[in-house]
Amino acid sequence: AQERYASIRDLPAETKCGNVISLQMNAGLIADLPSLAGSGAEGVGLFRTELQFLIRNQMPRRSELSALYARVLKAADGQRVAFRTLDIGSDKVLPYMKPNDEPNPAMGWRAIRVGLDKPGVLRMQLQALLRAADGKPLSVMFPFVAQMSEFEAAKAEMDKALAREKILGHALPETLEIGAMLETPSLAYAPDAFFREVDFISVGGNDLKQFFFAADRENERVRRRYDTLDVSFLSFLAQVVKRCADSGTPLSFCGEDAGRPVEALCLAALGFRSLSMRPASIGPVKHLLRRVDLGEVRKIMDGAIKKGDQSVRRAVADWLVYQV
Ligand code: PEP
Ligand code: MG
Repeated sequence: AQERYASIRDLPAETKCGNVISLQMNAGLIADLPSLAGSGAEGVGLFRTELQFLIRNQMPRRSELSALYARVLKAADGQRVAFRTLDIGSDKVLPYMKPNDEPNPAMGWRAIRVGLDKPGVLRMQLQALLRAADGKPLSVMFPFVAQMSEFEAAKAEMDKALAREKILGHALPETLEIGAMLETPSLAYAPDAFFREVDFISVGGNDLKQFFFAADRENERVRRRYDTLDVSFLSFLAQVVKRCADSGTPLSFCGEDAGRPVEALCLAALGFRSLSMRPASIGPVKHLLRRVDLGEVRKIMDGAIKKGDQSVRRAVADWLVYQV
């Protein structure tokens, strides 16, 4: 599939109306990294660090982690990699940790909640990331942040890690970006101060959609029941775009929907200028974006909304047939 899109691999995802959408890839293993060059991705918008923890049978040591992150950064060759700190709990259970018997693990003790309550692993991970960066730029994001205070507490852990590295005489990153994943509706209503404080926001659409519609992403009976292009979800995302635009906060979308062509188009039309997806989706999404005018897409979406459609999918898909 990548060969089909080879001719546009090094071209920007620039729409007919002149908007450039940054397309990045999601990754989680060293084995994913060769796709960086092959797909034409502009860096890694989501590096899921838990995969490294999941494929082992014991807790990795800091030195192992930092060697691994250094390899990731080397493979990225100066392109940005947004390392997402450990998101365990919910569907991702570590074989060497005592399982939590929780009735609703997706809404339970997971991700940054674990990181803040039992900070040992988070601290080790932050230190490993700082060592791996070795004075070069570093980008870190925290998963499943539900409120501003959680972001601040996680950021305070990073400040402590930085202070410690400094005392030990290690190089500090040349630039350090600290972001939050928006995966619960609550974060969209955080105080303005949060939007000013956070260096970037990445919408984790998989979890966000599950919580927005209260539909378990693991449950076959309900997971496809609600459309990402449902007008209520789009209206919510439009508010997130507006809040980020008002505060100048860089925003991206890294759930699976970013890699689906019609969804990607609608996200771009809503104002997302950065999308992170599986590498194989970059070619097709770029191909499509380069052929459209986002103002026209927006008009089609608004028309469907005005008409009272539940979802804009049909209207956008029908319109697309005549565009490409
Ligand atoms: C998400 O929730 O959209 C996301 C990108 O993270 P994950 O799929 O790993 O939960
Ligand atoms: Mg998630």
